[in-house]
Amino acid sequence: MTDKMTDHQNRQFRLAHRPVGPVRREDFTFRVDPARAPEAGEIMVAVEYISLDPAMRGWMNEGRSYIKPVGIGEVMRAGALGTVVESRAAGFSPGDVVTGALGVQSVATLAAKDCVKVDAGLAPKPLFLSALGMPGMTAYFGLLAVGEPKPGETVVVSAAAGAVGALVGQIAKIKGCHVVGLAGGAAKCRYIVDELGFDAAIDYKSEPVPARLRETCPKGIDVYFDNVGGQILDDCLAQINLRARIVICGAISQYNNTTPVKGPSNYLALLVNRARMQGMIVFDYAERYAEGAQAMAGWLAAGRLKSREDIVDGLETFPDTLQKLFTGENFGKLILKV
Ligand code: NAP
Repeated sequence: MTDKMTDHQNRQFRLAHRPVGPVRREDFTFRVDPARAPEAGEIMVAVEYISLDPAMRGWMNEGRSYIKPVGIGEVMRAGALGTVVESRAAGFSPGDVVTGALGVQSVATLAAKDCVKVDAGLAPKPLFLSALGMPGMTAYFGLLAVGEPKPGETVVVSAAAGAVGALVGQIAKIKGCHVVGLAGGAAKCRYIVDELGFDAAIDYKSEPVPARLRETCPKGIDVYFDNVGGQILDDCLAQINLRARIVICGAISQYNNTTPVKGPSNYLALLVNRARMQGMIVFDYAERYAEGAQAMAGWLAAGRLKSREDIVDGLETFPDTLQKLFTGENFGKLILKV
């Protein structure tokens, strides 16, 4: 790490084109430039771990969203963790560990106010991009503030072995719910039941989802935490209870579409059941992150919550590694080690 830090050469991926369908290596330009020296109020950070998130695919598209698209020629946006190497900002010193939107690059120079200092003595660094970071806050606030599960209710979650889904299911168990996860493949299904304590798993790639939902949710679905959209959302809607809550967290099955997004055709289940379907964006809870992180850290320390990271070595692998999210090859929170 030190030679990358001391010569301050910045290896970076910039968006070259707006991808059509799945991301390809040609959609990016890889460059090595001298890192920019920090100006007043800025810090220079040696990036160590980069969070790879399904949302990055959406950030590459033109159009209105909850955040500006990444511009053509700009460094690809990404949440990341690193160590301050130079500081011209009060309260930040070399050696401080920070998280922020550092980007897909080895050295980031940015406003210190856009970074958060973390106490790297409290947990392994990748955890600050996982259970203690954005996916953890998404699971915590998405489930508790939007899903509002009550003890004894049935909670179903898709992409259940992934970064957000695995945490959602475990928090729902902590809250006394009956929890069913959908995941692709036997290994992920075994993991969520045997290691994470879900009540049941459905392998959506090899099992009939509607029939398996009927078997595993005999009392119907009270909360569906949707990470995938598409057919699975429709299958869950068909089995919701009176006053069910559907949390629209993501729709990864639709992100690479070159045709219009497939909307739910079973939406009248919301009317019949006086149910609520609500979108959530984790950033809306930023003022409450301390509360969320404290709860997650407490459960981790008490052994009630497990966090699994899938760490891939090498910044240069970025375009291919990102694609693992869409093929299901990641097993746990996908992180790139710089
Ligand atoms: P993740 O679950 O760790 O990885 C993505 C997983 O999605 C893959 O491992 C794969 O698992 C599954 N998947 C991929 N294509 C699929 C398809 N066509 N149908 C069904 N499943 C598919 O990723 P994550 O970071 O936790 O994100 C999960 C979801 O949460 C995403 O939709 C993301 O956009 C969303 N999210 C939203 C917010 C927010 O603020 N709203 C914040 C963070 C994340 P299998 O092997 O099981 O198929």
